[in-house]
Amino acid sequence: MKTIFEKSNNADGINFVNETKKIDFLPDELLRNSHLNLPQLSELDVMRHYKELSDMNFCIEKGFYPLGSCTMKYNPKVNEFLSSLDGFDIHPDANDDFAQGSLKLMYNLGNALKEVTGMDALTLQPSAGAHGELTGMMIVKKYFDTIGETRTKVIIPDSAHGTNPASAKMAGFDIIEIKSNDKGQIDIDALKSVLNSDVAAIMMTNPNTLGIFEEKVKEISDVMHANGSLLYYDGANFNAIMGYTNPKLMGFDVVHLNLHKTFSTPHGGGGPGAGVVAVVSKLKDYLPKPVIDFDGKKYFRNYNIKHSIGSVKDYCGNFGVLVRAYAYILMMGKNLKNATENAVLNANYLKEKLKKYYNLPYDEPCMHEFVITGEKQKEENGVSTLHIAKALMDGNTHPPTVYFPLIVHEAMMIEPTESENKQVLDEFVSNMIDIANECKINPQKVLDSPYTTPVKKIDEVSAARHPDLNFKG
Ligand SMILES: *Cc1c(COP(=O)(O)O)cnc(C)c1O
Repeated sequence: MKTIFEKSNNADGINFVNETKKIDFLPDELLRNSHLNLPQLSELDVMRHYKELSDMNFCIEKGFYPLGSCTMKYNPKVNEFLSSLDGFDIHPDANDDFAQGSLKLMYNLGNALKEVTGMDALTLQPSAGAHGELTGMMIVKKYFDTIGETRTKVIIPDSAHGTNPASAKMAGFDIIEIKSNDKGQIDIDALKSVLNSDVAAIMMTNPNTLGIFEEKVKEISDVMHANGSLLYYDGANFNAIMGYTNPKLMGFDVVHLNLHKTFSTPHGGGGPGAGVVAVVSKLKDYLPKPVIDFDGKKYFRNYNIKHSIGSVKDYCGNFGVLVRAYAYILMMGKNLKNATENAVLNANYLKEKLKKYYNLPYDEPCMHEFVITGEKQKEENGVSTLHIAKALMDGNTHPPTVYFPLIVHEAMMIEPTESENKQVLDEFVSNMIDIANECKINPQKVLDSPYTTPVKKIDEVSAARHPDLNFKG
């Protein structure tokens, strides 16, 4: 009998290090004849290395994340647990009969999202907001092709997110950009002046990317519809209106929602996300297939969509994201309205506190986010918005979105979300005030920041011009 010390150090008694198994299905000349010279590290060393790297990363769990337009709200951890429950890992090729639970979840989620948008039908397939935009604009294109109208142009305001013109262009449209007026809203005369029978649609974000509600939205929708055109709603800012109004009431025909923004599923670093697209009934026959349906007894994937633009993503989209969003909706229930309310309240609170220190280009009540600028600091102290953003990082805060929207110089776009309490907001205000004061007293200190953040300033121009894609450098 071997003692414990003589036994092999793994359960099967195989010594992995010394065992060289003959691999007989590969030709000899392709086999190595010496060992790979891999670095030898202990598990603990490796673990510490990755922990250290992850500690350098900023995330909502570490601090305030007011990244405008991105709605970095807290993603409840219980959603992670729910999305990994047994049964939700069903193979996507499984027969509908075996997937009733998952199909039911998608069907119910769809119904909830129809309720909050006011729309009549939807697809859960697209995997991001931009993907939803492309899907929506392909639907618009196919609709006009099918009814035999040649409409080649899409109107987009100059405050729009860059993905809007990109998506419309990819769907085959030409873009007409229109200017915003001095209230930061769509100039309705500018809109009317470009309207003709060539115009397929307008793409709008409401509230827009300045965080301002487009007061003329109803008039805009009347004018567009009278012209035979459609209205696309970029729902990335849905967190500002949920439960108070909806895109249907505003007159929109196609909507995308970012579940990874408004409905609290993790995002950043490129996904996965979900850019659900909802439409009014006259566009429902153009949705991507399959659509999740229910015949009174059974949930099923419906491929019988008359004018479908086809599939835009494999299977039913990013299912794990859908589970998280559904969990969030069920947990919140009627409190979804409170989320909206607090998101708007928090943004207005910060705006009022900061406007004495930074320029506020549009001094209006804002919705869930607002834009201030570092113009004063740049002109008077030579400190640009980029430096202010970098300085904020030392205060355990993710910087706001900077230099967007493009129509505002030195823009800082701040979106606190509903997740944060007053203490966090006040700390942010005090950091921002300290930086504004520092700009006057000792601008060099701000220019040299950050001091304690792992990465100081990267050479973004070189990084873009000479991307180094080799990990060995
Ligand atoms: C985030 C955002 C998008 C794009 O959404 P993704 O999911 O990042 O592709 C589009 N429009 C606006 C206004 C946004 O904020």
